[in-house]
Amino acid sequence: MSAHTHTTPKTTVTVIGLGPMGRALAGAFLAAGVATTVWNRTPGRDGELVARGAVSAGSAAEAVAASELTVVCVVDYEAADSVLHRPEVTAALKGRTLVNLSADVPSRAREAAGWAAEHGVSYFDGAIMTPTTTIGTPHGVFIYSGQQDLYEAHKPVLDALGGTHTHLGEDVGRAAAYDIALLDIWWTAMTGYMHALAVARAEGISAQELLPFAQGIGQILPPAFADAAVEVDNGTYAATVNPLTSAVSTMAHIVHTSEAHGIDASVIRAAEGLGRRAIGLGHGGDELTRVAELLGRPV
Ligand code: NDP
Repeated sequence: MSAHTHTTPKTTVTVIGLGPMGRALAGAFLAAGVATTVWNRTPGRDGELVARGAVSAGSAAEAVAASELTVVCVVDYEAADSVLHRPEVTAALKGRTLVNLSADVPSRAREAAGWAAEHGVSYFDGAIMTPTTTIGTPHGVFIYSGQQDLYEAHKPVLDALGGTHTHLGEDVGRAAAYDIALLDIWWTAMTGYMHALAVARAEGISAQELLPFAQGIGQILPPAFADAAVEVDNGTYAATVNPLTSAVSTMAHIVHTSEAHGIDASVIRAAEGLGRRAIGLGHGGDELTRVAELLGRPV
């Protein structure tokens, strides 16, 4: 569905933070016909948005005073706090609603909610799970947590961003917790891919030659994720496909090949080490899912 079809008549929003993501958010609001006020620490990042109809606020306080809902999207909560905790900004936010879409850790989201409650600011939290290019398209993924009625009240404005919007629960740290878990998958997977490209290149294989097979690996991940999710939730780890004893032997081959080329193998060594630890504790006949249980044990 196009973002335009979501629009309710003449809603307003303020966007604080005009990095690539903040600009994408403000641009999508404008495209959907939402009256949008913008502010950024460093001036001059709003030229294109203003040309498209955004109001450039002279100060952060003026920006938050312009709308019932303020969306903050800066590098992290330290940066958000440095803007929002200025007395004149806090005063202007009183009685209004703030949603922080910056990425950070769950405890920071909970602290932000505590600060907001102390200062009479309505607050819920959120995270964006997809790149700037998806904003304003059906492919954007937005997650939220905190007070559900507040989220529901502002969802018509947020819908202007397109994509899917999911409220994950009243615990305000929950969106950030999902974000952390999902980014854990992303960064470790992509680092594994970068390592694979270095090893392949050392063996005379270009990244593009490897690509169709690398994409094949990508395609077997979704069903493997689904099987692992059931096993981890049920606590049933016994191997049906690939026992740890076999898994670590292929991991060791990667370590040896990397190091034979002088390539740092620390990432795959860490994976192999976890597998060997599980084997040492008597779990050699289990799937790799046993590692999730092992990592969760108290140290
Ligand atoms: P950045 O993470 O680089 O954030 C840039 C923004 O943060 C700018 O508005 C910058 O202001 C502001 N900022 C940094 N430090 C401070 C500070 N001390 N005080 C005030 N403002 C500050 O770029 P993005 O816009 O891409 O990301 C914003 C958030 O969105 C991040 O949390 C990111 O993880 C998240 N995100 C981004 C995605 C992407 O594809 N880019 C995807 C999903 C989430 P200034 O211009 O003055 O430096």
